Amino acid sequence: MIESPLLQQRTGYINGHWADTTDCDTFAVFNPATGKVLARVPAMNAAMVTRAVESAHGSLRLTQPYPLSERRRWLEGVRDTLTANRDELGRILCLEHGKPLPEARGEVDYAAGFFDFCARNLDALQPRALDERPKNCDWTVHYRPVGAVGLITPWNFPIGMIAKKLSAALAAGCPAVIKPASETPLTMIALFSLLHEQLALPPGLVNLVMGKARVIGTILCQHPDVAMLSFTGSTEVGRTLIADTAEQVKKLSLELGGNAPYIVFEDADLEAAAENLVANKFRGSGQTCVCANRVFVHHRVMDRFGALLTDRVAAMTVGDGLRDGVDLGPLINQAGYDKVQRHLQDALEKGATLLAGQRPEDLSTDNLFFPPTVIRGVTADMDCYREETFGPLVPLAGFDGEEEVVRAANDTEFGLAAYVFTADAERARRVAAGLRFGHVGWNTGTGPTPEAPFGGMKASGIGREGGLEGMFEFVEAQTVPRGF
Ligand code: NAP
Repeated sequence: MIESPLLQQRTGYINGHWADTTDCDTFAVFNPATGKVLARVPAMNAAMVTRAVESAHGSLRLTQPYPLSERRRWLEGVRDTLTANRDELGRILCLEHGKPLPEARGEVDYAAGFFDFCARNLDALQPRALDERPKNCDWTVHYRPVGAVGLITPWNFPIGMIAKKLSAALAAGCPAVIKPASETPLTMIALFSLLHEQLALPPGLVNLVMGKARVIGTILCQHPDVAMLSFTGSTEVGRTLIADTAEQVKKLSLELGGNAPYIVFEDADLEAAAENLVANKFRGSGQTCVCANRVFVHHRVMDRFGALLTDRVAAMTVGDGLRDGVDLGPLINQAGYDKVQRHLQDALEKGATLLAGQRPEDLSTDNLFFPPTVIRGVTADMDCYREETFGPLVPLAGFDGEEEVVRAANDTEFGLAAYVFTADAERARRVAAGLRFGHVGWNTGTGPTPEAPFGGMKASGIGREGGLEGMFEFVEAQTVPRGF
């Protein structure tokens, strides 16, 4: 069992108090590196979730909105407490997710960055007087909080994903009901422990619920007091939420699945492309929505690039994220492990060749450590090309021409992140413009940052997180006569 000063309470949080969940069923949270139970937490029932929604709605202030100066204090407070507690938060995150400890602590810093960005840019939400006088009248645009919001997050960034949503919600003055993923609720409970102990937030402004996704999801979708849902997770669940909120025409912000192309042209700096690919692909053991899922390499440089990559992969260490020097932790659960294994098997059966890693039949059956794996000869009929693998499998596919590779990269329902490696700036610009992806990196494998709007095109989502655009997701523009 996990011990931590930030986990004295292991329950939900409603209206400024820890929820009394003694009568609730509980579920186990596992350490994926050891398979051992870290904690049991409550599966909160529908009545409790409804109370959390009502408490959030009760703290919404429309006629006397929370002043920007107060919201800035909240944001700076969360930023500072995250930074001050990065080590312990990172340790809890490492234990329940499995990612290496330095990476987990880096995620806490990344999370703090979103609160910092919103605090520094809050004035963007000041009312704006129109220069023109339509209808012979002076007008002002106010940015009103959209209302009480439901925030649902996945397990792959237990603190990063909530930071994107909560920072923008607090900036806009929106009270929130938060539902973390069932694999990783402990980091969120630890965050709430800090909010409770160290920040005097108005009661009801932040609420935490956990338990059966269907129970919680149904209430967040159907309760009329929830004005907006902000969800990060799979496209499959995103589609359910669209359907379930259609009746009430609820506002939605959806960050969904990806199938990122990583394109290496023949003139690219191959060392840099390989180095960046390793950092991009193996972060979180390949369980990120932005990591390369199809690596397109020009035929002329395929041999060299493959060798550079396998050299680097051979030097990587897989193990318990708490151990020094570990590059990759375990996968989150058996279903995740089985999917990567299935993709590898399918690709090899359809003609791909293994450059690094183990054959499916040689993989371990008693733990969740999947070795970093590289295959080449990948084609469009393979599962790893069409579906998000969400694991440390690098599939290399050859190409010859620019138009061909842009067409192939776009040949997916997803449109989240893409990466282009070429020495030719003009070509990079052309290719970026042709790619239907919300984020395109040139000669870099880095993804979202607090300062930049990030989100998906096509089935990768609706809306943006980060940047000023991320804050504007949580407000409604209201035009009123000047002086109102
Ligand atoms: P998931 O299965 O869709 O779950 C995400 C969250 O939704 C969890 O909290 C889950 O709760 C909850 N959920 C499941 N069914 C629900 C329902 N019917 N109603 C309401 N909530 C429901 O996704 P995941 O496996 O955790 O995360 C991996 C996926 O997230 C990948 O596809 C990845 O690409 C995507 N992702 C996208 C971004 C982005 O920025 N676009 C970022 C990170 C991840 P339980 O845990 O209790 O089931």
